[in-house]
Amino acid sequence: MTFEPNETVKQGGISVKTENIFPVIKKWLYSEKEIFLRELVSNACDAVNKLKRLSSLGETSLDENEVFLVTVTLDEDENTLTVSDNGIGMTAEEVEKYIGNIALSGAADFIEQYEKGDNAGGIIGHFGLGFYSAFMVADTVEIITKSYTDAPAVHWTLNDSGEYTAAVYAEEKSRGTDIILHINEEGKEYLKEAKCRAILDKYCAFMPVDIFLSVAGKDEKDASPINDTHPLWLKRPSECTNEEYKDFYQKVFRDYREPLFQIHLDADYPLNFKGILYFPSIKNEYDTLEGQVKLYYNQVFVADNLKEVIPEYLLMLRGVLDCPELPLNVSRSYLQNSGYVAKISQHITKKVADKVISLFNNSREDYEGFWKDIKIFLEYGALRDKKFYERVKKALLLTLTDGKHLSIDEYLEKAKDTHENTIYYTSDKIQQAQYVKLFEDKGIAVCELAGPLELEFISFIEAEQKVKFLRIDADTDILKADGEVYENETLVTLFQKVSGNDSLEVKFESLADEKVPALLTISEEERRFADMMKLYGNNLAGMTPPSGQKLILNSQNALVKALGEKGDTPFAESAAKQIFSLATLAQRQLSADELREFLSASYQTLAKALESNA
Ligand code: ADP
Repeated sequence: MTFEPNETVKQGGISVKTENIFPVIKKWLYSEKEIFLRELVSNACDAVNKLKRLSSLGETSLDENEVFLVTVTLDEDENTLTVSDNGIGMTAEEVEKYIGNIALSGAADFIEQYEKGDNAGGIIGHFGLGFYSAFMVADTVEIITKSYTDAPAVHWTLNDSGEYTAAVYAEEKSRGTDIILHINEEGKEYLKEAKCRAILDKYCAFMPVDIFLSVAGKDEKDASPINDTHPLWLKRPSECTNEEYKDFYQKVFRDYREPLFQIHLDADYPLNFKGILYFPSIKNEYDTLEGQVKLYYNQVFVADNLKEVIPEYLLMLRGVLDCPELPLNVSRSYLQNSGYVAKISQHITKKVADKVISLFNNSREDYEGFWKDIKIFLEYGALRDKKFYERVKKALLLTLTDGKHLSIDEYLEKAKDTHENTIYYTSDKIQQAQYVKLFEDKGIAVCELAGPLELEFISFIEAEQKVKFLRIDADTDILKADGEVYENETLVTLFQKVSGNDSLEVKFESLADEKVPALLTISEEERRFADMMKLYGNNLAGMTPPSGQKLILNSQNALVKALGEKGDTPFAESAAKQIFSLATLAQRQLSADELREFLSASYQTLAKALESNA
């Protein structure tokens, strides 16, 4: 069907090669309906930019005071939502060509993907089906447009069955296009100002032409546009100030806190994308670790946290990425296998790692200050991505019990003479305070490893580097002192008895601190295994005493020796029981039964002591 310009009114049907697109549009993912506004407003911005380009090429001349803008007008009484621009406009032939024939590649691809059922996770919602997405919320759409050329203004009316009438527009019309949506029953909510503003904020916040929202019947007009046409990511990194980065972050993420630091991405050809990634500060351990990375296509918002484009662990960050080269009108499986996407993610990974290393090398104090907030991100990233790990490994820090920090390499360097390739750690410096003190007295640095990733993380580091992590209750070799080792078989049997474990290994050793009578140790492997079991839901805590447990009796301790002299008496038994409970308490939390028993035994001992003192 062709349109004869001299005909005043013409009727026809939209031609679609593959299949009628309208049923498809109406069935479009319900949750994605709102993107119609993004499509229409971005078309309007494009129309303005096209006109500016023509003018800069000298193909048309514009008034130098020309103010370009896009206006979204809501009229609840008329039931219309109108998107107007003063851009390039269209001639009758152009409307016919660009709007009348939607069997253009985009639409055909769309239908194809839709039929394949490749719409599961929402990528289809990122499709630029453009103008026709209006029919998700409208039953009739009018186009009134006047080209920048001399051609007369045109008036098209399309309905949701794909039928249209086209006519010359008889009234006065200035250059540009009005797209008038006659909103259908399901689309009513989009006529509400708050709803519309929220959608514009989400999708159009950085579009390149000033956008105003206007509500029919409301006297007050917005003084400033809803968008920022020059988002910070477009500026050269060398020209941005810290204040600007901070303001941009707080505005975009509505976070009153300041970000820790940021990485400004500015990748040239062939990757050609820009963006800013922020490391957010974490309030407390319950704070959500879910970041937000907003993806844009030429300043048009596409989606948050698009897993096909951004490596999963980077989604813990916050930021904006503008990828004009990204083929968004393709399926998710394409994105997942796309070499371009893989390169974007490699580039980002490298830039993030470079920034981390540069802070580590050049701003060590700041870096240590950030550590508690960025630790989980770096450790998770290292676990997920070997390349990332290789890049950041020298900047992975250990937090010591005294609050200081050492990198893994620095720790090992210090440990060279006393405990080569071994890192001592505590999983709870309060619960394990007694051990911590024994280590500190010996001048051995202990790091704190407490967090959801630690088990997995230390096993990973052990596999990658020549290093072994030992919890401070794993063995007492390093705490040994010179001195005669006192041995007493009766005590061995006695402690086996009071521990309720006949095969408990009881060892006599000389410990540096003579004040400590007994220490429990548990082999690192056995304990990690038990921790894993706990982590994966098989809660064995308190049920069976973990095997691999040893009781160390300190030969230097007066109490141990005195008890040895007593022999197997009821008093010696209750004292041994008490010592065993205290040693357990110094190592881990008691179970409910253990605690009850310990308390009642302690009171009894006190009562007896009072009696014998009376
Ligand atoms: P796309 O924008 O993906 O090309 P659309 O269906 O949104 O697809 O629009 C088709 C074409 O119609 C556009 O490429 C443009 O040439 C034209 N068009 C749409 N809206 C406008 C407008 N507001 N002003 C001028 N031309 C427009």
